[in-house]
Amino acid sequence: MTSLGVLAEGEIGLARWLITSRWGGFSEKPFNEANLAINVGDKPNAVEANRKQLASQINKTIIFPIACHSNKSAWVQEKEINNLNQVDGLITDKHGVALGVLSADCATVLLFAKETSVVAALHAGWKGMKDKILPLAIAELRRNGGNEISAILGPAICANCYPVSQERFFEVKKVEPAAAVINQNKDFAIDVKAGLKSQLNQEGVDFDSIEICSFESEDLFSFRRENQTGRNASLIWLKD
Ligand SMILES: [Zn+2]
Repeated sequence: MTSLGVLAEGEIGLARWLITSRWGGFSEKPFNEANLAINVGDKPNAVEANRKQLASQINKTIIFPIACHSNKSAWVQEKEINNLNQVDGLITDKHGVALGVLSADCATVLLFAKETSVVAALHAGWKGMKDKILPLAIAELRRNGGNEISAILGPAICANCYPVSQERFFEVKKVEPAAAVINQNKDFAIDVKAGLKSQLNQEGVDFDSIEICSFESEDLFSFRRENQTGRNASLIWLKD
């Protein structure tokens, strides 16, 4: 039995969260070792074994959406089937399940709403960030009575490792200026997490951030670095 590696874990309010590393699973190169995504070319058996192992480590059923860089989030009921389509965010008030989002350079955001004990997990690349998946999810939590919200920002590719075309730079700058930066190499670049932090500040949401660049860390999958690679998971669930 091989445990999946843990990059970081902790608690916010009545919730626990965990971010996996790429080590400790059953996937072979180039998905080694703990790939958790089914749609990246890895052997289904290996992904299934990794997901099963992770579920047993946290003792929860884990729900993963098949993300598509949208700004949509969906409520999850207990025992829902896996692999929800067409959403990049999951929200629940159920205790039986953990919400998981997958990434390799994209950012992830984990949310806990205090008054309602609701958790959410969001996948936010440059597009989801620009299209406001985070403010939309916060609005949904608040519509349901969760005013005081705390957040964890997962690791993501940093601006120095994420140069983009001038066109994309201005497309992002128009909507979320904090995320459009000139990096250390004087390239047009995107800092997805700077955009998300700006949105959290604007919403008055307290947050902690795992300040690790996925491109620079050998403990994480990175799509820009490796192209064909696995995905790490960011998970949140309500404590029993
Ligand atoms: Zn970097």
